[in-house]
Amino acid sequence: MKPMGPIPPAFAGRQVLTIAGHDAEYWIARAGDTPLFVYDLALIAARVAEVRAALPDRIDLHYAIKANPLPALLAAISPLVDGLDVASGGELAKALEVKDAAAISFAGPGKRDDELEAAIVAGATLNLESEGEGRRALAIGHRLGIAPRVAVRVNPDFELRGSGMRMGGRASPFGVDADRAAILVRDLIANGADWHGFHIYTGSQALDAEAIAEMQAATLALADRLSDEAGAVPPLVNLGGGFGIPYFPGDTPVDLPAVGTALGEALTSTRLASGPTRFAIELGRYLVGEAGVYLTRVVDVKQSQGETFVVVDGGLHHQLAASGNFGTVVRRNYPVANAAKLGADPTGTVSVVGSLCTPLDRLADRVSFPDTAVGDVVAIFLAGAYGATASPSAFLGHPAARELLIMPQT
Ligand SMILES: *Cc1c(COP(=O)(O)O)cnc(C)c1O
Repeated sequence: MKPMGPIPPAFAGRQVLTIAGHDAEYWIARAGDTPLFVYDLALIAARVAEVRAALPDRIDLHYAIKANPLPALLAAISPLVDGLDVASGGELAKALEVKDAAAISFAGPGKRDDELEAAIVAGATLNLESEGEGRRALAIGHRLGIAPRVAVRVNPDFELRGSGMRMGGRASPFGVDADRAAILVRDLIANGADWHGFHIYTGSQALDAEAIAEMQAATLALADRLSDEAGAVPPLVNLGGGFGIPYFPGDTPVDLPAVGTALGEALTSTRLASGPTRFAIELGRYLVGEAGVYLTRVVDVKQSQGETFVVVDGGLHHQLAASGNFGTVVRRNYPVANAAKLGADPTGTVSVVGSLCTPLDRLADRVSFPDTAVGDVVAIFLAGAYGATASPSAFLGHPAARELLIMPQT
């Protein structure tokens, strides 16, 4: 038997899984069928409110939309946050449907000229990933007669300790090395760009408040230093994000009040904080990840060489991350349950496998489970971020998953 991660508190501790007051079958009937992603907007709104309450007023909150770009979800979260961060021309177009261009920033390496142009024409901020991208943005702005609004993404000379995905302190396709960032800023300003500040993103999926606080303090110090070197005051310093959520056995939630307090203290020793500069953090999974549940129906239960396999109609083509094939080194179990028997005592050990014809498609590996039969619904938690759009949905030709955003009164 192998352990699984903790069921998020919003769903744990009940006999039967309920989402926004209704059981899984209710939402499946509403959506039409399984496999189905259900996202509870009330939980997302509550999380946004929690973050705002914990962080200093001085800090704007942005949503990194690649975590979950479902249009209905974007429309709902947009008024709750100060900005949207996008990472492709496609995401930019979606964000522009629901937010002012002035509140949208566009990061990511390999932006094509047509993507740069779309951002420049709209007036969104380009977070430049390289000097070359800066030159292309200037040339496009010159041709169009528009001063491109640009910020410089910095590849910091430190990294986020304990983060699941490190983005700093080493050679990187992301951002301009810290020792060259100020030169680029001077160059951009001299060439007529509308320079909007710095974007400093050090990593993702960090759970340790102390590590996050350390990173934020180092980021603020770096912003001070770079502004001095550039001889210019940044309108905005985006401090990145990186707040993680507990996916796996032993993971514990971020101590948000501790992060907020430390950030408040770090701001007091930041020179830029006494000027007009605004500060922002950008969060993806932390805002939406725990609010989503992936529901998939049992198609077969089979025995093989003494092991039990619960075969479901979904799989890694919708929820790649739960199969352990999305950025994890060692495969560990997401929290998974039989939706109608959430509180039932386990009666055995099963592996939950998806319907794809590959051994990679294992959604839970040898977990304790109650009696489970064909027709039951299995719930896979933490499906609100990096699910439907971060999975190889075309692989093996099964239909896409349905997605349902539960709004108050849905
Ligand atoms: C992906 C990404 C995020 C969001 O990361 P999470 O771990 O989901 O919070 C934020 N900023 C940038 C630049 C990103 O690329």
